[in-house]
Amino acid sequence: MVNINSKKQEKQKKEETGFYLVLPKIAEIARKKDANLSQVIDAVRAAWIKSLPSKLNLSKKEQSEIVSREELIAKCKSMGVELPKPNSKLLHLVMKYGMDSHSWQYDTNFVFKYRLHLPIRGIYNPQLEPTYDLFFRLFRKFYKGKVKGIKNVLENFDLSIRPLNLCSSIMFSEAVRNFLPEIEQKFIKDPFGVQRREHLVLDEKNGKLVYLATRKIEHGTYLAILQTVAYCTAGCARCYRGEQTRELKQFKAINPDGSESAIYFLPPSEQVKLLVRRWNKEKNPPEDILFSGGEPMDIDLDEWLKIIEGLKKAKFLKFFRICTGDLFLGESFRLIQLEFLEALKQFYKETGKAIKFVCNLPHPAFITPEAVYTIMTLHEAGFGIEIQSQTPLEEGVLCFQGDMQKKLKEYDGVNNISDTQILEAWAPSLARSFKLLRELGVKISMVADRPYKFIHDMQQSVSLIYTTVLFSLLSEPHIGTTDAAVRPTSFAAFMPKLPNLNLGFHSLEYLANVDGAHKTTPNGILIRLPHAFGEIAEYEEPLWIGINDIDTLKRITDINFWKKLRYKVKELVDKNVKYEKNKNTKIKSYCH
Ligand code: SF4
Repeated sequence: MVNINSKKQEKQKKEETGFYLVLPKIAEIARKKDANLSQVIDAVRAAWIKSLPSKLNLSKKEQSEIVSREELIAKCKSMGVELPKPNSKLLHLVMKYGMDSHSWQYDTNFVFKYRLHLPIRGIYNPQLEPTYDLFFRLFRKFYKGKVKGIKNVLENFDLSIRPLNLCSSIMFSEAVRNFLPEIEQKFIKDPFGVQRREHLVLDEKNGKLVYLATRKIEHGTYLAILQTVAYCTAGCARCYRGEQTRELKQFKAINPDGSESAIYFLPPSEQVKLLVRRWNKEKNPPEDILFSGGEPMDIDLDEWLKIIEGLKKAKFLKFFRICTGDLFLGESFRLIQLEFLEALKQFYKETGKAIKFVCNLPHPAFITPEAVYTIMTLHEAGFGIEIQSQTPLEEGVLCFQGDMQKKLKEYDGVNNISDTQILEAWAPSLARSFKLLRELGVKISMVADRPYKFIHDMQQSVSLIYTTVLFSLLSEPHIGTTDAAVRPTSFAAFMPKLPNLNLGFHSLEYLANVDGAHKTTPNGILIRLPHAFGEIAEYEEPLWIGINDIDTLKRITDINFWKKLRYKVKELVDKNVKYEKNKNTKIKSYCH
């Protein structure tokens, strides 16, 4: 008997294997023309902008509903968002591979086909050699002398870089580090506690445990993870759910004794139906639902339409939120598919309930013209969609603790580091982070809403002390900017057991001065802070001398030292601004 399914699978497999090879071919074409891959991507993007309707050809009504080319260009220029450079020769060369301005926006397979993808164990697949070579050609500089180490990581890592994220403004800034794994990287199991049995809202079907949502004790939100998208093509190398999205491990319940139990997922629309039924009977009901994945926007449109229908029956619902990496991480057009937008509009019309997109924004370079266009389109849809940005503070992307560590190592004896040396190690890294985060804040405030939330890196590549110091400086009205609109609303550390913990300078003072709040343990340091929930939140991280040891913490929170630190950071930020201004002038005069 012919196994139709296996034939079908085989065909799909062949097509998919083909996908892996498109990008290396395109990179090869670029190389022959003495150009790079980013210039090709930019050429396609520039053609996309050119293909947008001109204001002159739109009727008055259309002008209020459609974002025109002129409006987008003007908005990007005012925000300082880099516009891609046209290159008609490169564009024509790659169009025969289907990479054109039309597919850029309308082909839902575009990202799959043109991303730089190395699946788990892909480095052993001879067919994928060109992709593997391309990866090293593009990123060799980040792995100097560590090729063997990174091969070991890639063996069990699903690398995925979406085509937009290979554009010049991302590839030639720190932003690209968001997708590059570190040597000896290990994902922390369930750092946010969404798999803990005590937080799971489960049902039973045919004797099996079925997942409906996650809700931490008395928390006002249902976090509904949709199994079909536990994978995510955005490919953040330090993804908070990396065990599922990058290592493709199964989502299991973690029991209080540490053992794991299998749980099952229903199609998302059925999951929502069962959850809403239970929700409507809750005595202490949440008012908010947050859909999450991986990437919830990757589920089928038909399934989304059913989810939206199902949600209309949730009588306690006030806020409907979708957590997505698509807007800023290279697949923004998914958010403005006509039928999807229409369904949201109808939901709002019938229920009056607020719709929010919670968007992962790891670096200002991800505020691309494509993201700006999508936000403008969402706003023009006219039913009050809110964009909530969430910025993970990660090493090498926005935080530069590694530079501090290098500098601290140069000093004699870890126990004799002077105040001046601490200042010299900390201030340049803080100033660099500060400048990037301020840029992010300014840009997001110009196109959407206030920068919503900064999140401490859950994979522990940076100390909680460093990120809290950074946030404290950034939220201070006297450094760099006085405009409240561009300051972030909150800084949170996600706790495995309790709801998020919001932190600030006073948390550092507490840690430095209260007995038992900061403890050295065999694994590193243990931080114990009171949580508004009425319990003590505990957080453990490695010990980094000169960064998170108690002596350094006491020095930093000493008010005289703090004064010097913020002054020094301010000085460096100001200096840098002047330098950048000069640099821009030079670039301009060179271009014209
Ligand atoms: S967008 Fe979110 S889910 Fe996707 S890889 Fe990045 S952090 Fe993970």
